[in-house]
Amino acid sequence: MATIIDGLAVAASVRERAADGARALEARGVTPCLAVVLVGDDPASASYVRMKERDCAAVGIESRDHRLPEATSQSEVEGLVAALNADESVHGILVQLPLPAHLDSEAVLARIAPAKDVDGLHPESLGRLVRGLDGFRACTPAGVMEMLRAYDIDPSGMRAVVVGRSSIVGKPMALLLLEANATVTVCHSRTRDLPAVCREADLLVAAIGRPKMIDASYVKPGAVVIDVGINRTDEGMVGDVDFASVEPIASAITPVPGGVGPMTRAMLMVNTIAAAEAASRV
Ligand code: NDP
Repeated sequence: MATIIDGLAVAASVRERAADGARALEARGVTPCLAVVLVGDDPASASYVRMKERDCAAVGIESRDHRLPEATSQSEVEGLVAALNADESVHGILVQLPLPAHLDSEAVLARIAPAKDVDGLHPESLGRLVRGLDGFRACTPAGVMEMLRAYDIDPSGMRAVVVGRSSIVGKPMALLLLEANATVTVCHSRTRDLPAVCREADLLVAAIGRPKMIDASYVKPGAVVIDVGINRTDEGMVGDVDFASVEPIASAITPVPGGVGPMTRAMLMVNTIAAAEAASRV
């Protein structure tokens, strides 16, 4: 039987830490502020934004909502980001992804001032991670590292396999595990004999977007299994890991829901406090 890694509990303690930071800033007359940009009316995005705004309220971060219609042009979105960059009362900027298909997300993300890039997706933030320099780390992989710390799981020396190579999850996840001294393999849709590669892992991270794809045949007995996947199916929200088949052989596993998802949001709070602290020191 695996230890079930409780993302809700770890996220709650991370939010407490962020709330302490918010109180300390308030005591110095600084109200930490996150600007949230939502373009269009994708219901899942709108619901993520609502949850982030609730988290902000709980932590003591002011959230400023910028909702733009679906038909907003590239220059309008970039213009808003530029205005938020220039607004000294805004410490963090979050552009909710995905943007509508006619917009160039990479160009919008690249417009965010790196000092306000609390989602950690600006090319400079990713570059600083590659170079091992301080900077904002992408919230989802940063949340995974925080969960591992909370459960005293030290990746140092472990064989880690990350399935997925997106810039939001897979690549920064691999780099953070490398920074933590794991020996890291990154897999993707062209990987040959994926189950055999995954079975070498002491620590397996699934960030694929394929419901329940990782079953027991991909998992070495005793491995730690982190499920980043969020898939909406007829049976509700499921991860990329077939929990029922993997849980009996793993040593620790994250559930979906209640695993990585809450951690992603909690790390956004931590990064926003860090941005406000850095700005108030300047
Ligand atoms: P992407 O679609 O950007 O990337 C998916 C990756 O999985 C790609 O690298 C792709 O390979 C790989 N892949 C797809 N199919 C296979 C396959 N059959 N075998 C091996 N590799 C495969 O997704 P994201 O990284 O954005 O998200 C991944 C999952 O994590 C999704 O379920 C998403 O909803 C979830 N997510 C959860 C978050 C959270 O807070 N918990 C936050 C962000 C994402 P290739 O590059 O070759 O195409």
